Amino acid sequence: MKEIANAIGVSTPALKELFRRDVLRRAFVKHPFFSDVFEAYKLDRKFGSLEEGTLIAKTTDRIEIVRGFPKIKRALTLFPTIKKHFDGDVAIEEKMNGYNVRIVKFGEKLYAITRGGFICPYTTEKVRLFFDDSFFKDYPNLMLCCEAVGEESPYVPSSIYGERLDFYVFDVRDRKTNSPLPIKEKERICEEYGFKMATIFDIVDCRIAHEVVRDVVEKIGKEGREGVVIKDVEMKVPPIKYTTSQANCSDLSYGFKYFGEYGKDFLFSRLIREGFQSWEFGEVEEVMNERALRIGKSILFSMVESIRDVKDKGKIYERMRLRFYDLEVFELFKEHVRRMGVSAKFSEPIQDEDGIYIVHYYKYMKSTTDTVKHILEGNLWS
Ligand code: ATP
Ligand code: MG
Repeated sequence: MKEIANAIGVSTPALKELFRRDVLRRAFVKHPFFSDVFEAYKLDRKFGSLEEGTLIAKTTDRIEIVRGFPKIKRALTLFPTIKKHFDGDVAIEEKMNGYNVRIVKFGEKLYAITRGGFICPYTTEKVRLFFDDSFFKDYPNLMLCCEAVGEESPYVPSSIYGERLDFYVFDVRDRKTNSPLPIKEKERICEEYGFKMATIFDIVDCRIAHEVVRDVVEKIGKEGREGVVIKDVEMKVPPIKYTTSQANCSDLSYGFKYFGEYGKDFLFSRLIREGFQSWEFGEVEEVMNERALRIGKSILFSMVESIRDVKDKGKIYERMRLRFYDLEVFELFKEHVRRMGVSAKFSEPIQDEDGIYIVHYYKYMKSTTDTVKHILEGNLWS
């Protein structure tokens, strides 16, 4: 306890207070799979200069601090926002729609930390299979910040990137200071070690970037992709993000399907994005009509599907397909999900032709289920 307190610069009583207030929480399930880690805690809120999602771990080597991935602010308009925010050249990168993973090495093995600061057994299993540790031997202080994408994802499943979970590096950072490498350095490292990298569409002067981003966003939107992150090539200025209409609508569709779980802010903010984009793109009536139809459909169709599900099946679950190479990791993942406070059920694992275990993970959407049920029983909406 004293070592953890020292690491974040507080006294032992102050540390206890952080636990009591749930600012610090346990970040992993103790298990031989995580044998290099004795204790690990995560920050559930920003604390001093440490970001939310920061992990503090006592490992076989030492006390480690892995900084949380910083929040990326959003542009609602491209002009004059990009030009106002940056100076000189910017890289226009693909914003991939998966979940944020920081990969680090503790002791002998690799560990995958999700956005909130949990060490995730599902992700760690895949990371250990896909990445060798030569990069971490060469650069022990750096972490790989990746987007984990694919259909077989327990958090953000998406079929446009393929079936299997895959990792795309978008930042390389010092894990203790959070300082990012310049874009060129990141590219060099990904090339040298054979890591997949989020696509860099272009590098342009920030004064013309709004035009380039618009073209890119219109093109990738049609392919169902999420958007872009605009980054200073030296990474001295914080990046900003901008999303396609199709991504905003896909969020709306998901959010209205599980409207009990998703707050009004989540839905309202997506609608506001659509308004500014439609205005800035100077849409003629026909194009605006298409957008209006896309927004309307994403709201209505998914909601009706949920109501139908409650009526016919009684409960709403989000269903995901997962792949485990080891059944022990499956057991560990079940415990991990329970600790995250998710109410879920799992199918019996079935071995495929390669001996790998396929499992269906059903995440119970209690709030949406209860609300729909209540209304269908004839009760009034207060
Ligand atoms: P935020 O990260 O800004 O707090 P959020 O958690 O809602 O917001 P998003 O809206 O998905 O997340 O946007 C930021 C996330 O985008 C990053 O945390 C990262 O996981 C993901 N991402 C995907 N591609 C990239 C990329 N090329 N560069 C940076 N981040 C990317
Ligand atoms: Mg995301």
